[in-house]
Amino acid sequence: MLRFHRNEQIPYMRQEQRKKQIAILGSTGSIGTQALQVIAEHPDRFEARILTANNRWELLAQQARQFKPAAVVIANEDHYPTLRQALSDLPIAVYAGADALCQVVESAEVDMVLTAMVGFAGLPPTIAAIRAGKPIALANKETMVVAGELINGLCREHGVPILPVDSEHSAIFQSLMGEVSPIDKIILTASGGPFRTFTREQLADVTPAMALRHPNWDMGAKITIDSASMMNKGFEVIEAKWLFNVEPERIQVVVHPQSVVHSAVQFADGAVKAQLGVPDMRVPIQLAFSFPERLQSSFERLDWFSMHDLTFERPDTERFRCLALAYEALHQGGNAPCIVNAANEIVNRAFLEERCAFLEMPAIIERTLQQTSFIKQPTYEDYLATDAEARRIAASLLSPQ
Ligand code: NDP
Ligand code: MG
Repeated sequence: MLRFHRNEQIPYMRQEQRKKQIAILGSTGSIGTQALQVIAEHPDRFEARILTANNRWELLAQQARQFKPAAVVIANEDHYPTLRQALSDLPIAVYAGADALCQVVESAEVDMVLTAMVGFAGLPPTIAAIRAGKPIALANKETMVVAGELINGLCREHGVPILPVDSEHSAIFQSLMGEVSPIDKIILTASGGPFRTFTREQLADVTPAMALRHPNWDMGAKITIDSASMMNKGFEVIEAKWLFNVEPERIQVVVHPQSVVHSAVQFADGAVKAQLGVPDMRVPIQLAFSFPERLQSSFERLDWFSMHDLTFERPDTERFRCLALAYEALHQGGNAPCIVNAANEIVNRAFLEERCAFLEMPAIIERTLQQTSFIKQPTYEDYLATDAEARRIAASLLSPQ
């Protein structure tokens, strides 16, 4: 039997712990910058080992100066010379290009990879990290939407855990802590976005500026538009299926405009466990970093006496067709979710740039789903090909300007 004398250090005691070395893919974004705030709050526990960005090289350089990672990567190679110059006085390796993202996560010193990049671009480095045996803090939901089955298979093969960062999935994960019984139902809450109460006629004329004003969350532009169309919630249904191994019929989307109940799980006996809190992404980010422990935080607490109305509504898939399309893709299986994701990336960008109307988005996604080659059991290469094909088709369906 293992015994410790009073004066001996227990090996797993806090003082003995090596600081967790975290690679943040997408450190300049909304999730990335909040992850750095978490690291700054716990300098005794976490260190930013690798930081990456796509274009915002100045912010990346500033972050590198503050957090002193071993390496930084700028995905857009055009910014490489400027970034290198900006960091030339520091002992920080500077790399560029999408392949470099896949290579840096494999570094032996990295203990966890936070995937906070946006879109399909997050898939290759996430796969590289899993193959290298790195635990994943998953924010980049598009990875699970596109290739959930493949990702789960790789995680099993390499013994890699995925810690959810998406607030709803973190809430589900937290509701499952300590449970050994199967899930009866997932209650996936949705704020409903800025257009929750709009009629179809009103939706026809909404602008990007209106869509970017999310009532509860301050997020990157792409996910904010996805929240306004409710494609974000559709993606979260797909993400929940793969993360928690539940069939879509057992995932109920519930519109809850106050975003206090972050999601819940119902069990066989009818008991429901939920996780509540002030909407603040730093809470799930921190838990993904510190799990199974919970760490102290300075984040705002819920004020129970100011919460007068917590309301819950059924989602309207007639007005928010994107949600229905995500369910449809999930039922079709194979590469259908990958098609919907690619088409959505095209229309999302086009809407932001005022090249596509709000209600045109689901129409183009639906047609892309019909026109792109269906593959029942896609390989990684199939996903790459599907993504390219669906983007091409969706782009061709945009009205000429
Ligand atoms: P942002 O747009 O704010 O940030 C995206 C980050 O990824 C930036 O660092 C950006 O670099 C980088 N990036 C974008 N495209 C590429 C690319 N092609 N190659 C390499 N790096 C790239 O997004 P969010 O932080 O809002 O979202 C990140 C992910 O987390 C998304 O998948 C989103 O769905 C998910 N998520 C976000 C939440 C939120 O509250 N924001 C909540 C739940 C999930 P640069 O700054 O240089 O452009
Ligand atoms: Mg979410």
